[in-house]
Amino acid sequence: RAKERGRNRFELFDPVMQSNAMSVLDLEQGLREAVEARQFVPHFQPLVRISDGSVVGYEALLRWNHPERGMLVPGEFLKVAEESGLIEPIDWQMFELAMECSRDLAVEGRFVTLNISPRLFQRPGFDTRMLALLQQTGFDPANLRLEVTEGMLLGDPDAMVAVLLRLREAKIEAALDDFGTGYSSLGHVHRFPLKMIKIDRSFISPLAGDDSRRSCAVVEAILALGHALGMDIVAEGVETREQKDKLLAMGCVYAQGYLFGRPQAARHWVQEGSSL
Ligand code: C2E
Ligand code: MG
Ligand code: MG
Ligand code: MG
Repeated sequence: RAKERGRNRFELFDPVMQSNAMSVLDLEQGLREAVEARQFVPHFQPLVRISDGSVVGYEALLRWNHPERGMLVPGEFLKVAEESGLIEPIDWQMFELAMECSRDLAVEGRFVTLNISPRLFQRPGFDTRMLALLQQTGFDPANLRLEVTEGMLLGDPDAMVAVLLRLREAKIEAALDDFGTGYSSLGHVHRFPLKMIKIDRSFISPLAGDDSRRSCAVVEAILALGHALGMDIVAEGVETREQKDKLLAMGCVYAQGYLFGRPQAARHWVQEGSSL
């Protein structure tokens, strides 16, 4: 196994370098085996209407059920998955599972969102394959939203607009994730056919703090522009009552965060129903 070979091979080197080299090597091999053994599972986190806490949709979040280390979050393996290219088979496996697991969640107008890896979104034929997967799983495209990030739209904006328009044609809307962390300006977003903007947690966390003026200004500007363009705006990472109250006062309609619910297996939310 690569694990044992790697350990022996690096034994003579600096222990710091050894542990770094080992972990990437191990991770990549582990991920390869995980794709083979189908060890990925989707968790789901609710998106709510702030005013009454009702669930409007769920974000599907990737988890790796590692045979020895238990349930791992993307922070522990996503970078290696991206760099090795393994994210492509992982994402397709994840999307298929998410569609199959969330049939009982995508009811009564609720949508499910999928996070799309940048390299996957830019891959020619991505939209065609997504439509084929929907057909295969029987998941209603109208209940699906794809989360993309600013970086993905910048490379070849015209090509990305074309993909988004084809998806919209097929009833699949898109959400701009982690908004505010990338390089695109507010004035840039109107060029993309997006249904939703998710304001990054880094602007939401300081909202109720002492030094909240700048983050408040950013959030207010995003709300004004987004609403003027007819988009849904979601505040990410809401953890406290104070943040929630501030957002409501600012006119933000939707939110997501530990205050409303943590990511959980689909069956948890099916049992919970729509009440939080
Ligand atoms: P994201 O899309 O911005 O997802 C939100 C992340 O914030 C999730 O972390 C979620 O668990 C976490 N979160 C939600 N509410 C709160 C809160 O109130 N406080 C704090 N501190 N965190 C909160 P997670 O699940 O670890 O995912 C991390 C990132 O991994 C995601 O960020 C997304 O970029 C990526 N990712 C997740 N699932 C997939 C997937 O299926 N495919 C791909 N390619 N990337 C994924
Ligand atoms: Mg997301
Ligand atoms: Mg996000
Ligand atoms: Mg993020």
